Amino acid sequence: MGNVLIVVEANTDGSLRKATLNAITAGQQLAKASGGEVHAIALAKDATALANAVKEYGVKVVHAASAAHLEHALAENWAPAIAAAAQAINAEWIGAAATTVGRDVVPRVAAKLKAVMASEILSVEGSGADVALTRPMWAGAVIATVKLAGSVKCFTVRATEFAAAEKSGAGEVKVFAAEAPARQLTKFVGFKEVKSARPALTEAKVVIAGGRGTKGDFKPIEGLADELGAAVGASRAVCDAGWQPNDLQIGQTGKVVAPALYVAAGISGAIQHVAGMKSSKTIVAINKDPDAPIFQIADYGLVADLFKAIPEMQAAIKAAK
Ligand SMILES: Cc1cc2nc3c(=O)[nH]c(=O)nc-3n(C[C@H](O)[C@H](O)[C@H](O)COP(=O)(O)OP(=O)(O)OC[C@H]3O[C@@H](n4cnc5c(N)ncnc54)[C@H](O)[C@@H]3O)c2cc1C
Repeated sequence: MGNVLIVVEANTDGSLRKATLNAITAGQQLAKASGGEVHAIALAKDATALANAVKEYGVKVVHAASAAHLEHALAENWAPAIAAAAQAINAEWIGAAATTVGRDVVPRVAAKLKAVMASEILSVEGSGADVALTRPMWAGAVIATVKLAGSVKCFTVRATEFAAAEKSGAGEVKVFAAEAPARQLTKFVGFKEVKSARPALTEAKVVIAGGRGTKGDFKPIEGLADELGAAVGASRAVCDAGWQPNDLQIGQTGKVVAPALYVAAGISGAIQHVAGMKSSKTIVAINKDPDAPIFQIADYGLVADLFKAIPEMQAAIKAAK
């Protein structure tokens, strides 16, 4: 009892995805609280390199599941393999980072094992029979503390709320033989990656985000972002208008970010937007309206026209370099 199984995720180039390290930290806290050990499962066509990449991060055993049907993160193919590995190690907790893959795969594992599930956990509280998890509800307006019943429990982890696991000695890699499901109803057709020279939104240290106040002109936002080596983000209003692609959307129905610096320009600060960025270390808001709700959560607020203020900021930063 008490064992934890974390699903490992890879980037498109096969390297270890950083969010997995945050999920491992949550797994370590759960293992400590419930008296078990942390295991991980890497699934790929050949999972050896990925398993080796993760074994040093405080994981006792990494189960390397290599098979052709596991090449792509299809929940239908991954879930039976994860469920089988969880049963083999008598896992009490099965989790992954709350990425697109984690959100897709883990609930399916929970359904297979008839397990309870908590999504996007923020922290682990208590220990033994009193282990509880906190998770956001109603776009983060409420933080619920939940205790999960049953012998098997599933969870996804909000990566921004847990530090990345650090290297702490090598764990063991074991081959895990995963059988292909009898019927494969989903077929992988292709993956179109949006390539950008800027850092990935969820991993950037600085994010410059624009809202409807930009009126679709993102030149000032992009200029400041490039000056700071930052990622560009957007509110839903911007993405819905087709001004920027959907993968830049931050918020309840977009990405969750927690950079060291978040600049919100021409964004009003609707609760659904704030749900995706309020954990940022320093929040700077630029808005023409002094009553805009974004100022309530901003560390620094500038009541100004973004088209004037941002180029001035960019010029000042450039001059100071
Ligand atoms: C179920 C649900 C889920 C949602 N999910 C999300 C989500 O994930 N992410 C998200 O962002 N939204 C989400 N929304 C939408 C959200 O409620 C808001 O409508 C949206 O965030 C507003 O975007 P905005 O701040 O860019 O636009 P607005 O609210 O229109 O604000 C524009 C701001 O720009 C300012 N402004 C205008 N001109 C300038 C200028 N020249 N210089 C400076 N400031 C200026 C204005 O004063 C205003 O404050 C969701 C809504 C629902 C119902």
